[in-house]
Amino acid sequence: MPESASLRTPSFSRRLTSAIAQWVDSDYVPEGADKMRNEPDKVDWIRCIPFIILHAGCFGVIWVGFSAFAAWSTLFLYVVRMFAVTGIYHRYFSHKTYSTSRGGQFFLALWGATTVQRGGLWWAYHHRHHHQHSDDPEDVHSPHVHGFLWSHIGWITSRRNFPTDYSTIKDLAKFPELVWLNRFDTVVPVLFAAAMYGFGALLETYAPGLGTNGAQMLVWGFFVSTTALFHGTACINSMAHLMGRRRFKTSDDSRNSFILAIICLGEGWHNNHHRYQSSTRNGFYWWEVDITYYGLKALSWTGLIWGLKPVPKSVMEEAARADHAASIAAAQLAAHTHPDVSSLKKVVPAAAAIAVATATASQITVPKKAEDPAMHRDVSAQTHGMKPDQKA
Ligand SMILES: [Zn+2]
Ligand SMILES: [Zn+2]
Repeated sequence: MPESASLRTPSFSRRLTSAIAQWVDSDYVPEGADKMRNEPDKVDWIRCIPFIILHAGCFGVIWVGFSAFAAWSTLFLYVVRMFAVTGIYHRYFSHKTYSTSRGGQFFLALWGATTVQRGGLWWAYHHRHHHQHSDDPEDVHSPHVHGFLWSHIGWITSRRNFPTDYSTIKDLAKFPELVWLNRFDTVVPVLFAAAMYGFGALLETYAPGLGTNGAQMLVWGFFVSTTALFHGTACINSMAHLMGRRRFKTSDDSRNSFILAIICLGEGWHNNHHRYQSSTRNGFYWWEVDITYYGLKALSWTGLIWGLKPVPKSVMEEAARADHAASIAAAQLAAHTHPDVSSLKKVVPAAAAIAVATATASQITVPKKAEDPAMHRDVSAQTHGMKPDQKA
């Protein structure tokens, strides 16, 4: 294409044709992926029609009715596929927190594709970019930069965010089978939806007592479950940078939230994760429930995956220091801000005295941990093929 033609704004008919073609082939970008990524944010409504249909399909519950089997299937498929989002797209493709064989990797990619969250390579490209630019103007889904709605769902509808930047995920892009799944990212979802319908139709014939059928399983097992899965996942982009506690003073506004950890099977420990991305677990303590980690641990016993990475001792020590400092701050607040109404003083004066004494002493003895300059080193290392401890 001549340079002058490539610089012109494509006509509406051409954009329409491109958007429809991209439903099938997500790498079809006649104007050039780099050019598209540099455009200002703009919702591509035609490209988003399948995404709109996904949501609209949930209204099918009005016509297909309800059965206990369909309800349990919806929950089951949510959990199994949330595990794929968190344990596969996030902890494997984005961060390589464990190892597998090439066949195992393809199996994981197929499992991940059933989540209808596009290909693992597109997912990893955007996620690594998020870690490198968390909550700065470059972060495409920061609620602090773009607002809640854009961080939750808007960014995914923007034209500039559709193409995959393969240059930032070279460690994954070298596998043609992964690139194929990423390029034709509607194939697995369509097969999955068809399988849901077929499964329901079989049950209607061979297990009529369950009270389900093809249409009901399609609506509940595919549309409702997948839409819930999308919004559960999107909560990490939006809510996990707004809601919860910050253990580590990372350079972003990531937070730890028990509620999000339940909804997203462990991803709610987002501040932990932003502090140290390379560990397989996001919950650093036994009480930080991390169902994805338990699942990955179980998968490692089958031999499908191995080499799960732990949280380094230095990071755990930093966590202990941060928690200790937070306890002291809470005691100081109780003791000094409201000395006359402190419930601690009223109930156990001796304990209050010890708390205040500890607080005062610790103010002197506990060194202030400086901001870690290598907060983003793990993902940078993967992106540029460097060793984890090698600094850019
Ligand atoms: Zn984040
Ligand atoms: Zn991450």
